[in-house]
Amino acid sequence: MHQADLTGATPAQIRQADSVCPFSDASKDEDRIAAERYGDLPSDSRIGRYGSIHAGRLTDDARVMGSSSGGLTSWFLGELLDRRLVDGVIHVGRDGGRELFGYTISRSAEDLLASRKSMYYSTTLAEVVREVRGDGLTYAIVGVPCFITAMRHLAEVDADLRAQFTWHVGLVCGHLKSQFFAESLAWQAGVRPEHLEAIDFRVKNPSRRSYSYDYEVRAHGRLPRRRRTLSALDGSWGYGAFQPAACNFCDDVFAETSDIVFGDAWLPRYTDDWRGTNVVVTRRADADLILAEGVDDGTVLLEPLTPDLAAQSQAGNFRHRRDGLRVRLADDLAAGLSVPRKRVVPGYEGVSADRMALIRQRRAMSVLSFEAFARSKQTRRLSSYTRPMRAAIARYRKVESAGQSLSTRARAKLRSLLRRG
Ligand SMILES: Cc1cc2nc3c(=O)[nH]c(=O)nc-3n(C[C@H](O)[C@H](O)[C@H](O)COP(=O)(O)OP(=O)(O)OC[C@H]3O[C@@H](n4cnc5c(N)ncnc54)[C@H](O)[C@@H]3O)c2cc1C
Repeated sequence: MHQADLTGATPAQIRQADSVCPFSDASKDEDRIAAERYGDLPSDSRIGRYGSIHAGRLTDDARVMGSSSGGLTSWFLGELLDRRLVDGVIHVGRDGGRELFGYTISRSAEDLLASRKSMYYSTTLAEVVREVRGDGLTYAIVGVPCFITAMRHLAEVDADLRAQFTWHVGLVCGHLKSQFFAESLAWQAGVRPEHLEAIDFRVKNPSRRSYSYDYEVRAHGRLPRRRRTLSALDGSWGYGAFQPAACNFCDDVFAETSDIVFGDAWLPRYTDDWRGTNVVVTRRADADLILAEGVDDGTVLLEPLTPDLAAQSQAGNFRHRRDGLRVRLADDLAAGLSVPRKRVVPGYEGVSADRMALIRQRRAMSVLSFEAFARSKQTRRLSSYTRPMRAAIARYRKVESAGQSLSTRARAKLRSLLRRG
């Protein structure tokens, strides 16, 4: 996984890095950046500032099939290029080098089409930013919330980049994954990490709901193998497998500092459709115009959503980033650790004992996943990872079902009180 290396850095360089890091107390938080940029828009404590909120997708099913969700992200980026609003798009694509995925630059709609879908992988902006800095061209940058915020910070201290990065396109984020996620999914499908050549994290399956997608892996010179993601040990995002520690301190789900953000509309009325549907939040009038023209010419289907529905589409994320974050901050403070300043107040108030246990168990599982998978790669036995991880997941499920039956009991009691009342 990519990690900042401060070896040999001077105090001045460290101060500069501090002002750019999205998790540092020395940098502006998402509320401040958004207020400066989109201060005339209404604000919601969960999704940030918003101009419009929609669920939607492309009307061309063939295009949608090649995308993770409704295909609106790659389409919108293509529009930015076609309308010459930017000279290039900086996004994650298949790397073709030592890593499976990495940040790349697309300069045509065809380039963009070749790198669609979600890449749940740890990447760095370092090389690509170095490559384009001062080249006199303009770019749209695509990223999960912390990458977009880092670019906002960087633009404040670098006038070249400030002029060059004219569009910030966010992806809703549950948490990032390390390279181990791809390797673990592949190994569970029978492809050892050293043989893994390609992975597609999001293959749609017409026989299931949109959240129950497949993944496909390919070993060098072999036919691809496909499996249902939720059937993999670590396929559920709730288990937090291979989640970098920084994500434990993130409170931004809807990339609040981006001009437009795309995610999955994980709401029953949309997940029934296996093809996938986006949730989209805009923060710039020209983004709304592009979407509206897409609707007018029949390329795009959109339905308005309320802020509540948009937030509901990421209900699990908000539990992790709000109550979960409060508990993790309070735990670390109680342990004498330093924590970053966040937009939630550390504490346990209003969080049930079962939920607290679940939050702590998920955090422990993230740590365990890294240690155990590293051991698996050393021993060359997948069971060095799956055995302890399976036991941890069983503990997690036990706490979860205890919490659920408790709330079922609480609901039954409330119903009987109401009946009596
Ligand atoms: C780590 C991660 C976690 C996510 N978590 C959630 C979540 O919890 N809830 C949710 O609703 N959505 C989440 N998403 C977003 C979701 O997976 C889809 O990317 C989104 O719905 C867009 O779908 P689409 O069909 O419009 O995109 P496509 O039309 O398939 O286009 C995707 C575009 O995003 C770019 N891209 C893919 N991965 C990355 C990356 N890692 N960094 C930068 N650019 C990238 C591609 O290059 C492509 O241009 C997450 C995405 C990532 C990368």
